[in-house]
Amino acid sequence: MRQQPHLVSGLIDACRAAIAANADYLCELDRMIGDGDHGTNMRRGCEAVYADREALALLPVAEALERAGRILVASIGGAAGPLYGTLLIEIGRQSAADPEADDFAAVLKNAIDAVARRGRSEAGCKTLLDVLYPVQTEVARHTAYAAIALEAERAAAATVAMKALRGRAKFLGDRSIGHIDPGASSCALLTGAICAVLKEQHPV
Ligand code: ADP
Ligand code: MG
Repeated sequence: MRQQPHLVSGLIDACRAAIAANADYLCELDRMIGDGDHGTNMRRGCEAVYADREALALLPVAEALERAGRILVASIGGAAGPLYGTLLIEIGRQSAADPEADDFAAVLKNAIDAVARRGRSEAGCKTLLDVLYPVQTEVARHTAYAAIALEAERAAAATVAMKALRGRAKFLGDRSIGHIDPGASSCALLTGAICAVLKEQHPV
């Protein structure tokens, strides 16, 4: 992955805007089954990345992802920080190790597995992994960007029926059922934002 300033800046702007517009909603979701700070945490993380955008845009994409991931780990604060951070750091690390690799789906799968290890979690626990894995499946199928975004929304909505087995919501047991997982929701919002940028820059 070579240096692509417009791609990196475009992704940063789109993700920041999506989280800013939905921060109150994400806090509301987190009030139902957590401690009410997910929107605030994610907004803090996006603002920190945004503050570093000029330096990030000058880096090769792989290095920009790693650096942005470290910023997220340092700034988000909540459980989601190390998880989103690990995702970006791992994608960046793998891409830097093999710049010619063209199988992004495989890179993404490895990175999501690293997130799962970091959270001692897996699919089905009512977390952001319940969006990440279905998104990866669509990426591997070369699904169009708009349809990947729809799949992310569907997957986030499907967490309503799940019982939380990880994170704060786990302590609610069966009472966690009936609510969307906040991390799954932020993940769907970010997926939608990223897909919109990629669709604009690489129409298929
Ligand atoms: P905190 O729970 O520390 O307040 P946030 O509210 O920012 O952190 O993030 C909560 C979200 O993080 C959850 O909705 C869930 O998607 C995700 N999450 C929490 N713990 C885990 C875990 N162990 N594995 C995967 N995802 C997790
Ligand atoms: Mg929280």
